[in-house]
Amino acid sequence: MLAAEIVLVLLASGMVAATAFLIRWAADARTPLRASTVLFLLLMMVAMVAGAAIYYTAPGPARLVEGFWVASGLMSVSVVLVFAGFLEEVRRRASRGPTDPPPVLRHPRTFVAAVIATVLANEFLMGWTFSAAAGATIPLDPAGLAAFGVGLAQVVVSPWFLFTMSAEMLLTAYLLRDRLSPALLTVLLSQSAIMFLSPPALGDSAWTAATVYGGSGLMIGLIVFVMEHLYRTREAPRAFLDYLVRLLGLYALMMAGLYLWWVYAFPAAFALSVVLEMVLYFELVVRPERIDPSTRVAWQDRPHWTFALLSTIFVAELFMGALLDAQASGSAFVSGLPALPWTGTLPESLYAAFYNGFWFFAAVTASTGFLAMMGIEMGALVVFKLRETRSRETRIRLALMLGCYGAFAVFFPSLYYPLLFPRAPTGASVPVLGWSMGIGSAPLAVGVFGVVLATYAIVGVASFLFGRRAVCSTFCTAPLMYQGTTIDAMKSFNRSSPLARKFLSSRFSAAYSVTLSVVMISLGVASVASVLDQAGLWTVTVLGSDPTVFLFALYFSVLWYVLFVTIPYTGNYNCVTMGWCYTGAISQAFGRVGFFRLRVHSREVCQRCTTLDCAQSCPVGLVDMPGHFRRKGEFRSSKCCGVGDCVESCPYGNMYLYDVRHWVRERFGLVAHPRGEPLPMVRPRAVGSHATRTEPAGAPSTAGPAPP
Ligand code: SF4
Ligand code: SF4
Repeated sequence: MLAAEIVLVLLASGMVAATAFLIRWAADARTPLRASTVLFLLLMMVAMVAGAAIYYTAPGPARLVEGFWVASGLMSVSVVLVFAGFLEEVRRRASRGPTDPPPVLRHPRTFVAAVIATVLANEFLMGWTFSAAAGATIPLDPAGLAAFGVGLAQVVVSPWFLFTMSAEMLLTAYLLRDRLSPALLTVLLSQSAIMFLSPPALGDSAWTAATVYGGSGLMIGLIVFVMEHLYRTREAPRAFLDYLVRLLGLYALMMAGLYLWWVYAFPAAFALSVVLEMVLYFELVVRPERIDPSTRVAWQDRPHWTFALLSTIFVAELFMGALLDAQASGSAFVSGLPALPWTGTLPESLYAAFYNGFWFFAAVTASTGFLAMMGIEMGALVVFKLRETRSRETRIRLALMLGCYGAFAVFFPSLYYPLLFPRAPTGASVPVLGWSMGIGSAPLAVGVFGVVLATYAIVGVASFLFGRRAVCSTFCTAPLMYQGTTIDAMKSFNRSSPLARKFLSSRFSAAYSVTLSVVMISLGVASVASVLDQAGLWTVTVLGSDPTVFLFALYFSVLWYVLFVTIPYTGNYNCVTMGWCYTGAISQAFGRVGFFRLRVHSREVCQRCTTLDCAQSCPVGLVDMPGHFRRKGEFRSSKCCGVGDCVESCPYGNMYLYDVRHWVRERFGLVAHPRGEPLPMVRPRAVGSHATRTEPAGAPSTAGPAPP
């Protein structure tokens, strides 16, 4: 048996090499004769494998003869093709002069489609035949469409299909490497590796575990690479951008398919994604010149494309998270998901579908697998941002933010609490430390209500002393997602999107006030209802759950992600700009009366500034800050999260973040304020408060009274 498998592997390797070289030729084929020659050779391969496939349907002399005839017939047909191509070229050359260029293909798209179809047919027949030769005949019952479809899917998820396909992708990418940009080559090679690490290929538990983790890791790496590449280049060929979005869309289908395969042993969705990915891949490599560098476009000018990018990545991550949870926890994860049977009347079935979909979404996005995976992915972008951040204070905050995410989103809920409180219900956590800050981790019993209030009091004190950034730029899990390089660059949509523009500036618009009111009222009602429910005074559930658990799931496990992918329309940090987060609202209320504000060393520098980089770089769109700096030398807004991009972007190093530490220093006559960078447009003066210490070079002093 081993000898037979070695022979099969050698045969498959030969087919892989032949197919890859033919695709390489196809990429060069521009004339009818060359194109028909490539198709002829591909069809010859199909004919050979088809003959073998006929034999293996019922091995014996009769099928051997039938297989031989089918192979010969197909080969004869393919000869006609090459002859037709030859005649076409001769005829068109006859009407040209001797120095004219050779005739070009009239229908290149048809040629590409024919190449893809023959390669697919070849792979499919090979997958079936080699599986049969290895002793695993896959039934393909043409009588029933569903059974036939299941058979097709089983062929596609067989190792002979997936490994062969992966090797072909690798080899074609290598052969075409001179024509591909480094970024595109990286994407194509990653595709090959991800295809290789397909869990259904072997299906045993060790392979499944290794490939679920390994394939997910590779896909996360690819997504990080794509995001960072977009951040660095800002512009890319249009076809490359379109390819990326289609690929990520197929990866979304692939991860959904893998989840269905893992839970229900249903391989069809995964198989469909593999076939579609092959079509996408070969469509590109047969015509690599489609990636025309002269068609570069800025993705920040394409909100719909960016929305498609974020949505496809998110759906892929959602199912990847579910798959990781299922792999890590076994069937306990799946059986722990709230689910209603899809039975009864149509309204009952629709309600069950909504109920199951909502809780699947909410449970996965709050799960360890998903949060750990998102932490690695978005954390990598934050690390890239950290490397290019000059301000020491911002660097420390970014590092703290990473640590808080690891502690509150991953370590405490998944490791610490289960060990400390083994009998606590799944998902429950100690209110003070949990990233849900007590709301939503479990019903609010009377006993813990005080603890939750204490949590918010601690948040309030921290916000009073250090501003809202204690929560919205450090403690909360959201800023990790917002502040990585690429997502941070999406703050450009805060100014370009018609909807996001309505929330610009520190002003509280009517829409903002309405959202905030709804959120705070819902928090109050849900909290009281939960306490009354726990006290046995009022029995109330929402969508089968405690009101606060539902409220938290709605806002932070569902709505937050929905709004995250709509950043191209709603702007970055939309939980802050639109005011739909009750935690942020509580924090901002305390921050509003606290010490935190933005200050400048010199009002005059701001008065002379024409670039207004601070306003441009603000991720929550506080575009009115330069006006305040010019008038008062400082700016306060309860929307300000203290991200520090403004400090980083001011070309004159004129800004700094002021909080209780500066107040204490001022109070006790220590250093009045931090030293800024040299200010090239002003010359220093010896004395004065922070607003009068410098004045514009060559200009009379225009400094007014020192700001408060
Ligand atoms: S507004 Fe809410 S979700 Fe957004 S960063 Fe602040 S605490 Fe987090
Ligand atoms: S803080 Fe810097 S960027 Fe902003 S207005 Fe003043 S000088 Fe210009």
